[in-house]
Amino acid sequence: MTAGTERPMRWQRIPKDVQGFPVRPNLQDYETACRQFSWDDARRALSGLRGGGLNIAHEAVDRHAAGPRAHHEALRFVRADGSAHSLTYLELAGQTNRFAAVLRQLGIGRGERIFSLTGRSPELYVAVLGALKNGSVFCPLFSAFGPEPVRQRLHLGHGRALVTTRALYRKKVAQIRDSLPDLKHVFLIDADGAPEPGTLDLAGLLAAAPADSIMAPTSGEDMALLHFTSGTTGTPKGAIHVHEAVTAHYATGRFALDLHPCDTYWCTADPGWVTGTSYGVIAPLVHGVTTVVDEEEMDADRWYRILAEQRVTVWYTAPTALRMLMKAGAERAAGHDLSALRFVASVGEPLNPEVVVWGQEAFGLPVHDNWWQTETGGIMIANFAATEIRPGSMGRPLPGVEAALVARDGDGKPVVRDGDPVLVTEPDTMGELALRAGWPSMFRGYLNEEERYRRCFAGGWYLTGDVAKRDADGYYWFVGRGDDVIKSSGHLIGPFEVESSLMEHPAVAQAGVIGVPDPVAGEVVKAFVELRTGWEPSEELRLDIIGFARKRLGAAVAPRMVDFTAALPKTRSGKILRRLLKARELGLPEGDTSTVETTTEAP
Ligand code: AMP
Repeated sequence: MTAGTERPMRWQRIPKDVQGFPVRPNLQDYETACRQFSWDDARRALSGLRGGGLNIAHEAVDRHAAGPRAHHEALRFVRADGSAHSLTYLELAGQTNRFAAVLRQLGIGRGERIFSLTGRSPELYVAVLGALKNGSVFCPLFSAFGPEPVRQRLHLGHGRALVTTRALYRKKVAQIRDSLPDLKHVFLIDADGAPEPGTLDLAGLLAAAPADSIMAPTSGEDMALLHFTSGTTGTPKGAIHVHEAVTAHYATGRFALDLHPCDTYWCTADPGWVTGTSYGVIAPLVHGVTTVVDEEEMDADRWYRILAEQRVTVWYTAPTALRMLMKAGAERAAGHDLSALRFVASVGEPLNPEVVVWGQEAFGLPVHDNWWQTETGGIMIANFAATEIRPGSMGRPLPGVEAALVARDGDGKPVVRDGDPVLVTEPDTMGELALRAGWPSMFRGYLNEEERYRRCFAGGWYLTGDVAKRDADGYYWFVGRGDDVIKSSGHLIGPFEVESSLMEHPAVAQAGVIGVPDPVAGEVVKAFVELRTGWEPSEELRLDIIGFARKRLGAAVAPRMVDFTAALPKTRSGKILRRLLKARELGLPEGDTSTVETTTEAP
C-alpha cells in the first residue's frame, strides 16, 4: 500500500463515559498540542517523592492510595470462569509494601534484579510495583520461553530473585537452576503450602510481612526496568529503563491512549514484554483508571464477553489478536453490547488497513495504530482519538517526540556524514526511522554492552532499525525492519538465538533462520539447516530437529518449519546471508550478491 493515498477515517460514534457524558479527547488539535507540550510540564503533573526523587510505584500506586482515589478499583482480574476480583489502589499499596518488605527481609536491595516468569496473575502486578518500591529492578520474562532463553536472560541480567508458578518452575527453571549462581530466591505464586525444594511460598511470605509503607528514595535516573529484546546477532540485549520513564508513560497514556480517570482500560499484552509493563501496568495506574486483567489466554468469544461485561472503555491490543478476531468473524461481536467501548488502539506489528476498517464493522470504531519499541520505552508515533486516521499508517509523532527518516546506503545502512545522519526530506521516500534523543523513557543503555548502545545513535538521533516513509502531512508508514529480526505474533525473535540452539542438535552443522509471512501471526520462524557429514535429510530428522528446538526454546520461539539445504548462502567472511535466504524463499530479487561465497545452491 502506498503512503498517503488512503481514505481518511474519523470517529463514527461520539465517545461517552460511563454516565453517558461525552468524553472530550485529551488531544484536541495536533499542531497546538505539539507546540504547547513540554516534558517538564508533563513531569509536573506527577507528584515526585517527598524530598525530591521519582519512583514509578509512587506515581502508579501510593499517590492514589493517599488521595481521593484510594478506594477506586485499580486492578480487576477476570478469572477463567468469567468472575472477577479486584484490588483498590489502597489494597494494592498494602500488597506492594508487603512484597517490598519480603525483599528487604531476604536482604535484596536497591538495583538488584527481580525477574518474573508467569502469566497475568495479581502477584505479578504486586511484584512489579513492590520491587520498584524497594528500589530493585524488575525484569519480566515471557512464559512461553523454553529453558534456554530463560537461562540466558536470568544469567545476563544477574537475576537475584524470580517470581513464577510451580508448573513453570518445574518445566523451565529447575533444570537450569544450578547454572545460575546469582539466582538466590525463587518465589512460587501457587505454592499452596506444599513445599517445592529450593523455592519460597510467596503467599505465606506476603501474609506474614508488614504492610507499612516502603518507598526507596530513587532518583529519576535510577534503573527501574530491564527488558530483554532481540537483535540480529549476539545474545539478547537488556534494555535499561529508569524511573523517569514514568513521565512518558503518563504523557503517552494521556495522548495516545486518551486515558481519562473514568476509564475502564484493558491492555491484552503479555506481561513478559515491554507493552505488558509500560501500558499493562504503569501507564493506566499512573492515570488512576481501572485496569482489567484477563488471567486466561486469548479466545474470541471470551474477549468479546470481557469487553462487554467489564464495560471496557479503552482497549489496547495487537494486530495478531485483531486478525484472529477478524478470522473468527465480525458476527461473533454482534451479540455483545460493546457500547461502553470508545477507543481502540493497537501496537507491535504492522496493522493492515483491512483490520482498521474491520474494526469499524465489529466495534463501530476504527483501530488506532501506534508505534514504539522496547528501546523507546513508550509510544512514539500514534493515531490520536480526535485526529484523522489513515488506515495503514502508524500515525504521527507524539507531542514532545521528534521523528525523522535517515537516508540508507546500498547495504541498507544509515548514511552518516561528519557524525550527523543524512535526513530524508522528500515525502513518501524510504529511510530509517530515527528519533531525536532525550525523551524520558528512552533506554539508558544495553546492560553491560556500552558499544552496542553507542552504535544506536548518530549526531543526537536514536536509530530505530525500522524502515518507514512519511507522507506530505507527516504521517509515518511502516515499511519493514532494517535487520533480520523476526516479528511473530508481535514478539521479536532474534535469528541468532534460534540458530545457536539448532546447532546444538547433533545432526546440524549450520543453520540460517528467517521470518516468512503468515496471514495471522505476521511472520513465523523458518530454519534452513545444513547437516553434518553422515546425516541424511528425512522427515523423521526434520521433526526431531523441530522437537529439539521447541524443547529448548519454547513453542513461541522455535521454528515452525525446517528445510534441509546442502549449502547455506554466506558472505566470504562466513556470515550467513539471511537476506538471500528470504529473497529465495519468497521469490524476490536477490539484490547485490557480489559478496556471496555460496550462491549456487538455492534452498
Ligand atoms: P519490541 O521491541 O518487541 O516492542 O518490538 C518493536 C518493533 O515492533 C518495532 O521496531 C517494529 O519493528 C515493530 N512494531 C511496533 N509497532 C509497530 C507498528 N505499529 N507497525 C509496524 N511495526 C511495529
